[in-house]
Parts: sequence; structure tokens; C-alpha cells
Amino acid sequence: MTMAHLSSNDDEMTFQVAAQNLPPELLLMVLKQWLGQHRIVIDGSAHPHYTLSYSNPENIDPFATISRTSDAPSFIFQEYFRSRIRSWLTDAKEFSDPTTFYMSHLLMSLKMKDRIGWYYLPNQPWDAICQDPALSLSTKFPVINDHGAQYARMKHLSSLHGLEKIKLDFTAEQYFAMFDVAIPPFHYRDGAVAGDSLYRDEFCHGAGHFLLHTKELELHFGDAYKQANAWYDVQEAAWCETNPAWNYAEARLRPHVCDSGLVIDWILEYAWYGGYLQHIKTTTLTGDVQPWVREKWYDIFKRHAMYLEEHPALYYRIFAVHEPDPIDLETIGIDDEDEDEQDEAWRPQNHYPPACRCEVGCWRLRGGRVEEELEVKSWNEIERFSDEVVGDWMSGVVLGSL
Ligand SMILES: [Zn+2]
Repeated sequence: MTMAHLSSNDDEMTFQVAAQNLPPELLLMVLKQWLGQHRIVIDGSAHPHYTLSYSNPENIDPFATISRTSDAPSFIFQEYFRSRIRSWLTDAKEFSDPTTFYMSHLLMSLKMKDRIGWYYLPNQPWDAICQDPALSLSTKFPVINDHGAQYARMKHLSSLHGLEKIKLDFTAEQYFAMFDVAIPPFHYRDGAVAGDSLYRDEFCHGAGHFLLHTKELELHFGDAYKQANAWYDVQEAAWCETNPAWNYAEARLRPHVCDSGLVIDWILEYAWYGGYLQHIKTTTLTGDVQPWVREKWYDIFKRHAMYLEEHPALYYRIFAVHEPDPIDLETIGIDDEDEDEQDEAWRPQNHYPPACRCEVGCWRLRGGRVEEELEVKSWNEIERFSDEVVGDWMSGVVLGSL
């Protein structure tokens, strides 16, 4: 029997049978398992009236099942309420779409502000939402809008707002927008360039600001991130031109992009430059991330945490241990120009997206694992080649423009 394909009827049976047969301590474990993984959902279909809920999409109304289980012992009801509230307050909240991420934070800040605190947002485009007098938020259990009611139920967790721990699982484009990555051609805002299709959601740009009250952050670079490089959908002519010097079609389709290395490093450089991460106690990088990126940034996070410990003031220098240089990232290739050679105009599409030079190629990092190199059929073949070609057998191999 596979757990993943249980229908809701099977779920009910499982829980009902369990409730009738298991001793209490095992039944509590079943309850926890059966309630499953929850997600924040924002229903804005009745705009400007929003509903915030935290539920398991596979098990929308567990209470109905429990209350229909006539033999359910009463402690199960109590434990059900307790464990759902605790889960809302203490779980890491995972977001795979930016809208749910920023709207949940914004709405809680505006309508439950005794909980999460303020954000300092620019007028554009936020005033349209923030200043709307009709804006309203209702919440569904276990999100309790009434401050007093929540505190009465969970005194020891009363200082929590529920969004302390955040996991983001975004695409490359979404991370670029969120942390204001401005390498070419992303230094243009949406709509500034005709025919351009950079990330369209105006609200997502700079949305990293909504991490202001986050204490633990996981940035995940998984399937969503790896599905396409951030340049893939760029429509600007320069990235769609073919170049006879290249053995691939267009710059935006460049193979072997350093997406698990340089590109993640750049996302973090801009996130640091924007001051989006410095207040967060613990930041982890998961998914397909090159070891050198993890080492570099875990070292920065650690040194910054030590600096904060030594300077426990309200105001601190965000670049105390590391100061990003965005100009350096936005002009890669300019410094390399040979003065003696004929001056050729700098073409950013020759340098972005960046080709991979990592020890283990970024294209081999998938699903948190290192994939086999497909080009080479067997180890014997490598040995045979290296026997035949003595010396620098990589000379003459064109790796693409760098
Ligand atoms: Zn790489």
C-alpha cells in the first residue's frame, strides 16, 4: 500500500480504525502523521477581502473526520486543537510562490499587527493595497486572529507570530526579483524595455524586505530553481541573437550555465547588498548548491553572527564583515580587455548567463545529487584517451565564450 495515493476515504478509515484500536501514545503519533504537512493559503478571490488559512491540501478538514469518529477519546480533540495551533506557531513555513509569501506577511502586518510588526514599504506599488479602506483579513483555524484567544490557549508560545521560520523554494527569476539582482539585463525594471519579459510581478521586486521579521531562513535551490536559468525567458534582442562564434544558438540558451555556483553566489551578494539577510539568526542554503558557495556564505553568516554578538546595538553595520560590489558583478568582462588589441564594444551577452567552471559541473547537480557525466560512456574510454594523448589533452577544446 502506498501512502501517497490514499484517497480521503482511506484516510478516514485509517484514522478511525486507529482511534478505536491504538493506545493513546501511539494514537497521538498517528494523529500528527495524519494531519500531515501544512501550507499557508491566501484566498484573494473576494478581493479586497482575504482569507488566511494553514492547512494540509490533502486533508482539508481533519476535524470533520475526528468528530465523525464516534469512538474518538476526548483527549484526541484536545490534542488535535493543541497540535494544530502549535504547528501554526512553530512550523517552518514553506513558500513556492512569491504572491503567497508577500501577501501573507503583508496582511498579517496590516491586520494582525500586534503579532508580526511593521514593514517599511515604498508607495509604489504597495499603497494600492495598504491604503485600501475596504481591505480585510479573516483567518481560519488554527490561525487565530484574536490575540487574547491565542494567548489563552498557548501561553508558552505567546510571543510567536508563526512566520519566524521561512523556507523559500523559488525559481531563478523569482529570486532575482525578490533580492533585486541587477546583472544585465535585469538592471532594467519591468516594462522599461520594449518587448522585454523580465519577471512581471511588480510586487515581487524587493520582496526580500518581507524577511524583516524572519529568524530562521532556508533558501532552497531545488527543481523550481534548476528548471531554467534566469535568462531563459529574456526577450531582449541581444540575448536572442545568434553568434557564429558560439556553438550554441542564443546567449539565453547557453548550455552549462553556472546556475548552482556563480548565479547563487550573485543572488546572495545582492541579498546581502540589499540588507535583506543580516538580521536573520540562521540562514541555510539547500538543494543544488556548489560546495564553494556554501563555504563562502556560511563563513560570512558565521562571521556576521559573531560581529552581532560583539555589537549588540540596535544599529549595526550591515557590511561589517562583507561588502558586496554590485558594479563588479554587472560589468564582468570589461576589465579583461587587452589595451593593445582593437577596442571591441563590451557585449554583456558574451558574459551572461555565466558559463560554469566549477570543479563538478553545475549541470550535473540535480535533485540534491551529483549526476553521472553523460558524455563519457565508461572509465575505460577516459583511460584509453589519456593514454593516446600525452600532454595537455584539453587544449583545443572550446568551452564556449567566457
Ligand atoms: Zn558552476
